[in-house]
Amino acid sequence: MKTVTFPNGTQVPALGMGTWNMGDAESRRADEIASIRAGLEAGIRVVDTAEMYGSGRSEKLVGEAIRGLRDDVFLVSKVLPSNASRAGVRRACEASLKRLGTDWLDLYLLHWEGSVPLAETIAGFADLVDAGLIRSWGVSNFDTDGMRAVEAIHSPTPCAANQVLYSLDYRGVEFDLLEHDRAAGVVTMAYSPLGQGGELLRAPVLARVARRHTTSLGPATPAQVALAWVLRQPDVLAIPKAGSPKHQHENFAAQEIVLTRNDLAEIDGAIAPPRRKEPLAMI
Ligand code: NDP
Repeated sequence: MKTVTFPNGTQVPALGMGTWNMGDAESRRADEIASIRAGLEAGIRVVDTAEMYGSGRSEKLVGEAIRGLRDDVFLVSKVLPSNASRAGVRRACEASLKRLGTDWLDLYLLHWEGSVPLAETIAGFADLVDAGLIRSWGVSNFDTDGMRAVEAIHSPTPCAANQVLYSLDYRGVEFDLLEHDRAAGVVTMAYSPLGQGGELLRAPVLARVARRHTTSLGPATPAQVALAWVLRQPDVLAIPKAGSPKHQHENFAAQEIVLTRNDLAEIDGAIAPPRRKEPLAMI
């Protein structure tokens, strides 16, 4: 299983799971909880959530899903920019911990940059590390300029992660951001790696490549190829959201797919890599 290593030495599998929109519908709740548990049972460790998701509903569902399993989880949540003052991050973090039913987060991210000066948010994160409420901190939706600004701010613990949109239909980060993060020792977390389950999964090139691969579950699917393609990158952690155990198992099995040079060239031919700097896209 491919892994990534955070600056504090913590190593986790490069496949994690997202939870946006989970907890929003009572009819899907049992499947969503079963999905998270199936993922943890298979060996996934990173569970990504945010105070924003369903105004806390995702965190509550995650809390329920990981009850009794906390030590198996590398738990990530995010603070809204509007709560990211020095005192605000403490309040927001304590509220997240309560919803999640835990005493600590493994990683706490600034969801995107807002009007609070970065130095203040980072000082707030440092307070939380000191208090033992979080083990590491990072950012989300930061482009290279933003990362340089983060790196210029002195902090006793370094920025551990930058969570950004990265999938076959948003390849812009390949131009320089992935390499920038890698060189700085920052783990890139790829969000929406399946293109949110939309048009991307109907791309003919994914169907063609999928036909050439199998996993222990049977013939590969376009979604598995899309995920294997993100996971081919070193130091990148992908966090697809699977709302059912079936999708969670399929995503886990995508780790078995090793794309050939031929596959990658065919994919590049259909969906070209960036040739110039593009502003970071975000959802
Ligand atoms: P994804 O790209 O992960 O796509 C999720 C969609 O793909 C769902 O509709 C899901 O359906 C479907 N899907 C999952 N597995 C499969 C499969 N094996 N085959 C076919 N379809 C599948 O989109 P998300 O936007 O959810 O991104 C992932 C996570 O990233 C989020 O949940 C969140 O944690 C994080 N995120 C962070 C952002 C940020 O600003 N930091 C922004 C956006 C996302 P089903 O539910 O039926 O399984």
